[in-house]
Amino acid sequence: MQQPKHAMEIFQLLDKSNCRQCGEKTCLAFAGAVFRGQRRMSECPTLDPGIVARYEANPDSPDDSEQNPDEYLKRLKSEILGIDLAQAAERAGARLVGNRLTLEVLGKEFSVDADGNLFTGIHINPWVAVPLLTYLLYGQGRPVTGNWVSFRELKDGAERYPLFRKRCEEPMKRVADLHTGLFDDMVHIFNGNQVQKQFESDIAVVLHPLPKVPLMVCYWLPEDGLQSSLNLFFDDTADSNLDIGSIFTLGVGLAQMFQKLAQRHGFANA
Ligand code: SF4
Repeated sequence: MQQPKHAMEIFQLLDKSNCRQCGEKTCLAFAGAVFRGQRRMSECPTLDPGIVARYEANPDSPDDSEQNPDEYLKRLKSEILGIDLAQAAERAGARLVGNRLTLEVLGKEFSVDADGNLFTGIHINPWVAVPLLTYLLYGQGRPVTGNWVSFRELKDGAERYPLFRKRCEEPMKRVADLHTGLFDDMVHIFNGNQVQKQFESDIAVVLHPLPKVPLMVCYWLPEDGLQSSLNLFFDDTADSNLDIGSIFTLGVGLAQMFQKLAQRHGFANA
């Protein structure tokens, strides 16, 4: 299978009619989505099947971002080289000083230079790095509205929701059920904001994994024969400011981080 070196290589193969039959607004947007592993070449009905076959060996293979995060990260870094940093800073709610963009991820400062290198005072996990670079490269920068929706209500969220529930909401709920006090402390150490009154629950906090992609965690303790529950909510602009794959990655990464923190505090079964 031939691997495209950059999004423009895919763009050159398209007929550039911006016909929208693939569901993207432009051929360029489609090329970027294919390069990031979110769309398949075969979804463009005007592409020659021979070209599709050259680039697309197995239609059932998972996204590159999950299958090979290091390679995917390398590709994203190479794309940063070609962007206008000042425009990206404005869209992303970041500061631009010299050739470095700086923004806050869960209350910690992260910087990205013009070569796509990441800088921060803590270890950089791929579950942060991939969404962060994708956000800078492709986020539309729409202002947050404050209208909260579930993951399944986001564009392309419905089909991924069963897996999101299994890998994000359920493990996070398990930590909250087993170690409620610790979970309460953990969600609040990441500069969480209070939620609006109508969303108040036993533990409720708004986190900012990226400046324009807030995420609200609501946990309800068991009560009157009802089981506990935990749900994540996103601003209804989240799917414009970040792709659904990266939103998934952030949620799952957060859940894994809470599990690890609980284990580090001596809770082996977190
Ligand atoms: S269907 Fe193909 S030609 Fe039409 S907009 Fe999408 S990528 Fe471009």
